Formats: sequence, C-alpha cells, structure tokens
Amino acid sequence: MEDVIKVEHLSKSYGNLKAVDDFSFSVKRGKVFGLLGANGAGKSTTIECVLGTQKADSGVVSILGMNPTIHRRELFEQVGVQFQETNYQENIKVGELCEVTASLYRNPEDCNKLLKRFGISDKANVLVKELSGGEKQRLFIVLALIPSPKVVFLDELTTGLDARARRDVWQILAKLKADGITILLTSHFMEEVETLCDEICILKKGKPVFYGTVSEAVNQSPHNKFEDAYLWFTDEEVVNNEIL
Ligand code: ADP
Repeated sequence: MEDVIKVEHLSKSYGNLKAVDDFSFSVKRGKVFGLLGANGAGKSTTIECVLGTQKADSGVVSILGMNPTIHRRELFEQVGVQFQETNYQENIKVGELCEVTASLYRNPEDCNKLLKRFGISDKANVLVKELSGGEKQRLFIVLALIPSPKVVFLDELTTGLDARARRDVWQILAKLKADGITILLTSHFMEEVETLCDEICILKKGKPVFYGTVSEAVNQSPHNKFEDAYLWFTDEEVVNNEIL
C-alpha cells in the first residue's frame, strides 16, 4: 500500500535544543497515525516541518509523493490542516469563514453541505466566537475538509472538549477514515488514540521511543493498560495517582 506521508531522518534544532532528532515514519493511505508525547516532545515542530511551514535542518519529507516545500500549491489543494484555534479570526461569521477558506482552493467542497454533514448548518450566521467548544471543533474539521483533501493533519483536535463532544468528533474522524482519508493526529487522550489510531509513535525529547500499534506498545511495556504503557514509555509513570 502506498505511503501517503513519508518522513526520513527529520531533524530540527532551535539553537542548542534538538526539538526533532533523526525522526523517520510513514503513514499508509487510509490509515490514522497518532503522534504522541508530553508537551515539548517535538510533535508540533514535526508537523510544521512535514508541512513545510518550518524549515527542517535535515531530512526528506514527501506527502502524496510531493515535496511540501517545492510543490506547495499543488500539494495544499489536497491536504487539510486544522490550525490551532488562535489562528482563526473570531469576529467573522461561520459561513463567511467557510467561504473565505473555500476561495483559496480551485475545487472546494460545498461549504453548506459540509456544515450540514457536521450538524452546524444552523450556525452559518453566527460569529465564530459565539460557538461552543464542540461546535468550534466541528467547524475546524469542516475548514480542514474544504479542499476535499486526501490527507488531513489534526493537532489536538479534541483538547478542551467534554466527553460527549469528544466522542462526536471521534465518530466524524471514523467516517473520514472510512472514506479513505489519511489522518495524522496528535492527542493527549489515550482512549482517543486507542479508538482511532492504526499506528502510533511516541516522541520523547524529539526522538521516537516507541513506533508501532497500540497493542504492541502495551505488549512491550510491563503494563496491561495503554495509558500506563504510554506513561512508561515517556517515563511519566503514575504511582498513587501522582505523576512522578
Ligand atoms: P510539542 O508539540 O510536543 O509540545 P514542540 O514541537 O512545540 O513540542 O516543542 C519542542 C521543543 O522545541 C520544546 O522544547 C519547545 O520549547 C521548543 N520550541 C518549539 N518552538 C520553538 C521556537 N520557535 N523557538 C525555540 N524553541 C522552540
């Protein structure tokens, strides 16, 4: 099966700090890949280098067979990116933000259909800042899907959501996966990772400390639960409910 995302020997330093250190991974078509690790582990830097919004010091990246720095325009017609919330204008109506986003692409999806599919078509005339957390996250997914992408990058999509809203987002992502879309996500919710991800990589100080499936992670650890295994790999074992 074809590698939709392929990253080889990616490294990026900020001064003396090695944020990403010789990191290689690949994601096959229609798979969900989870990039995990504590805050500061290097997840965002990896995604930025993969997307070409940060310049890597070394390494080779290809998305859909293209180099994101060289084939920028062509590639971003086919890639959906969910930016962190702060990158969005809040004083704009939902429908207007969708139209503005659609105007950036040659063959955008029908925004109204997408809003309807994600249950927020009644919010088209509401300001983005007036949406609830769950509605905002659904809007962010809509925005990422406007280019009709083959691959989407989702950075901590469900952070800040309540359990119900989080599960709604999971269902949406499962549908995208069923449509054959390749997904790279970051998450701090291990239940989410277990539910959605075909493969994961756990980063620690810019280096992968585990790469494989959730069940392989559990098997390679002394624990039975994935969350415990994850903490074991990141050396944040929980004893008596306290992170050491
Ligand atoms: P994560 O997304 O896993 O939280 P980041 O990729 O944001 O990790 O950060 C990795 C490391 O690089 C951290 O130590 C962070 O402080 C540092 N870092 C990130 N961005 C910059 C930057 N623009 N300048 C200097 N250091 C940075």
